[in-house]
Amino acid sequence: MKELEEKILKEGHALSENILKVDSFINHQVDPVLMQQIGDAFAGHFGNKGITKVVTIESSGIAPALMTAISLNVPMIILKKQPSKVLNDNLLQTVVTSFTKGTSYELTLSHQFIEENDNVLIIDDFLANGCALQGLISIVLEAGASVEGIGIAIEKGFQSGGRIIRNLGYHLESLAIVDSMDASSGTVVFHEQ
Ligand code: 5GP
Repeated sequence: MKELEEKILKEGHALSENILKVDSFINHQVDPVLMQQIGDAFAGHFGNKGITKVVTIESSGIAPALMTAISLNVPMIILKKQPSKVLNDNLLQTVVTSFTKGTSYELTLSHQFIEENDNVLIIDDFLANGCALQGLISIVLEAGASVEGIGIAIEKGFQSGGRIIRNLGYHLESLAIVDSMDASSGTVVFHEQ
């Protein structure tokens, strides 16, 4: 997606050869116009899949997931990373190791929000090694629903997640795929799509 690649080139920072900082438009400040374009792009890719729910992980997946849900006119569900005193009924949980923080968290879904006949579209901001996505997929499947598609804003193509998820047979669409980054020169090279 041209607009996303341009924004990454203009405002993104390669912190190292494998961490891209996009705090000014995705992870801290959010660019709502870009998010709407991202939502429309995902709706274009998955609009014919009979999607009934859009599912993401708090917190950075929420903005693109919400815009996608608006475009598809379906509800959005946020899987929680933090234990909650109010979430205690009929929970589905799985442990995910965070790529950026190097820690683990328990991904949690209240079963009532995803049902057996749901066709789920998973949306997230980044794909690195695929741990977050594998956690999301396993919870959706545990709920008895089907994963009809996965939309990622920024895939780092030099890490293993994209290959793992595509090899599992999922329809994965990434709007920008970074082939390489260099922190010293600040260069970010995209995969031709
Ligand atoms: P994975 O589970 O695929 O290894 O990592 C995906 C999660 O880690 C994403 O949900 C995102 O929050 C975070 N993440 C992975 N790589 C990056 C990155 O380069 N920059 C930022 N800002 N977040 C990342």
